[in-house]
Amino acid sequence: MRKTVHAAILACALGAAHASDLVIHAGTLIDGVSETPRHNVSVVVHDDRVVSVDAGFTTPAGATVIDLSHATVLPGFIDCHVHISAKLPSRTNAIEDWLTHNDLDRAFDAAVFVRAMLQQGFTSARDVGGGDETVAVREAIDAGKIAGPRLWVSLEPLGPTAGHGDPLNGLDHGLSHDGWKNGIVDTLDDARLRVREHKRRGGNLIKMMPSGGIASTGDDPRTQTMTNDEMRVVVETAHSLGLKVAAHIYPAGAIENAVRAGVDSVEHGSFATAQTFALMKAHGTYLVPTLTVYDTFYAVARDHPELLTPGTAPKEMANDLLPKKNLPLAVKSGVKIALGTDIGEGDHTLEFALLVANGMPPMQAILAGTRNAADLIGASDRIGSVQAGRYADIVAVEGDPLAQPEALRHAQFVMKGGVVYRANGAPTVAGAQ
Ligand SMILES: [Zn+2]
Repeated sequence: MRKTVHAAILACALGAAHASDLVIHAGTLIDGVSETPRHNVSVVVHDDRVVSVDAGFTTPAGATVIDLSHATVLPGFIDCHVHISAKLPSRTNAIEDWLTHNDLDRAFDAAVFVRAMLQQGFTSARDVGGGDETVAVREAIDAGKIAGPRLWVSLEPLGPTAGHGDPLNGLDHGLSHDGWKNGIVDTLDDARLRVREHKRRGGNLIKMMPSGGIASTGDDPRTQTMTNDEMRVVVETAHSLGLKVAAHIYPAGAIENAVRAGVDSVEHGSFATAQTFALMKAHGTYLVPTLTVYDTFYAVARDHPELLTPGTAPKEMANDLLPKKNLPLAVKSGVKIALGTDIGEGDHTLEFALLVANGMPPMQAILAGTRNAADLIGASDRIGSVQAGRYADIVAVEGDPLAQPEALRHAQFVMKGGVVYRANGAPTVAGAQ
């Protein structure tokens, strides 16, 4: 069934009479393995996988040629920090949206936003904070019902009462909702139980919030809110179940405690110092800087503070410019960096531009959004590079993105699992635009 659907889509997308092997003639290939681009190579695709990458423009018998000989071909992009149902803060009141939408509404929003993400070139993503809709959308994508990136989802972030992830923070304390305690961790037993519950509900990643945050009422981004033991139990339980742990953290001391507890990535990390980055490097912990969300929220805090959660605009104004200032220190430290935006709706390619504009060389930015992101997810054997055996998740842009990183913001061609979703700068599949 799935193969038939793919064949029909391909026939439609490419005008081919038969579904057969595809060969991409790549003028330049940045393969996500080497830091040196290759020129004039052929990428052979069979079903959903790359079977070979060959020198020169070759055409195996019966293969359909996809001519990208004037383009730069890259691995599909990977965003390690998304919230698939999150609307842009500039067009919705955060509290109103939170109280008037349920997981079903959010699933339909997410279906629209993941489609856009794929069109931008993102063929994989980690959702680090959502409800049951994130599992449902992941499953719908995998089943071919809707178009979107491959997803790893964490369900609700784990954190304490009155912390960044406590949905009741800032609301009338008499309100309650079945799902509002899903992420609450106040004891070591809670820590174990929540991880196991998330696994049971279909989470394939764990997110925790051991420090306060910015876009939330009543907590302070400069404080550590979980105990070291709670962090350790979350990590031990998650790792024993084969789940990675992403940790939202701001203060240097809390980051260092979380790194020692064994988290796989530090999200945001805005107040990290040279010492913090050195410790992360020694432990192999990834940094996911999420510059996009700060740019986005800073503008709203300045121009439309009434749209944000009460009391958060001053926090945004005080803190949102720090991550950009701190990025050069992170780059210089040699800490591993993976790309993440912290948005749902909106332009995820902005992160490439922000990384480069704030001191990261273009090749390193590309690797942050391909090879490194795949490594952080733990899926380097399937995604993040264009080489034999990997999924045929492939993007092409015009020109040379190393000389003109802006090119990364305009994918001309997007293939995921051997299916073409975008060609000549336009969607190819009905319902995928
Ligand atoms: Zn986030």
